[in-house]
Amino acid sequence: MFADLHLHTNFSDGTFTPEELAERGAKAGLAAMALTDHDTVEGCARMAAACSERGIRFITGTELTAELQGNELHLLGYFIDIDNPTLLGEMKKFQAVRQSRIHEMVKRLNDLNIPLRAETVFKVANCQSPGRPHVGRALVQEGFCTNMDEAFDRFLKKHRPAFVPKMRVSALDAIELIHQSGGLAVMAHPGLTRSDELIPRLVDEGLDGIECFHTKHSASTSDHYLKIAARYNLLITGGSDCHGFSKGKPLIGGVKLAGEHLQKLLDAHQRRNDRVNRQ
Ligand code: AMP
Ligand code: ZN
Ligand code: FE
Ligand code: FE
Repeated sequence: MFADLHLHTNFSDGTFTPEELAERGAKAGLAAMALTDHDTVEGCARMAAACSERGIRFITGTELTAELQGNELHLLGYFIDIDNPTLLGEMKKFQAVRQSRIHEMVKRLNDLNIPLRAETVFKVANCQSPGRPHVGRALVQEGFCTNMDEAFDRFLKKHRPAFVPKMRVSALDAIELIHQSGGLAVMAHPGLTRSDELIPRLVDEGLDGIECFHTKHSASTSDHYLKIAARYNLLITGGSDCHGFSKGKPLIGGVKLAGEHLQKLLDAHQRRNDRVNRQ
């Protein structure tokens, strides 16, 4: 029994619809899937229905871009209540910032004599939570770049001229937001963040788990974070971070979280619910 707990749809910067993603998950033999779109839970209702039809256990989720001591880190919120008004209100703000950031990135491209229009990016994105991949796809579509790698390498990645930092919620507030929405907070792809020194502070603030398994983690990176999980008594999660086709094939199911870790996550959620219900 395996799970993939890090997936994106076209409600953020993935290219698959929830139904397409569920279908691919079923083909990959997944027993459970979580949707972790950036700064939105809009895809969760459809994903839940699509998973249910296929006998796949579905876990609600999101991926928030957060900040701690000047470092960007991504926090996954699992089992969040997708109707929670506070959560939805905060996400609306994150989405508004993402939308104005698109205008800022387009302006920088225009200053570089790339006549891309914000309208084109929004049309490509067709969602409330647009991001850099949508700018990249628009650059490719309009013939300004030959592929996404070129778009990121020339313009969009950090230290490149069209890079605009995102407003980042403090990691402590993000953990609090996830908890008050009934969720568990998990540090995403720590091997990419490379800020292990932040982990003790996050644990003090209630971090519940750490994503030990990720497409971009080597076996030794995963081992390293499994040891950290054991040291701080953190839940262990994993996922492919599939955004659709990547170099010709989708990543979904490429990272398989073992059933024992999934069960511990489900148990931790149950315990939290029981505790809240007793209060
Ligand atoms: P954003 O949240 O708007 O800053 O965009 C971040 C997203 O861009 C990540 O979730 C990845 O999906 C994607 N991304 C980041 N770096 C690259 C890259 N070098 N090539 C392609 N996609 C990337
Ligand atoms: Zn993404
Ligand atoms: Fe991420
Ligand atoms: Fe992601």
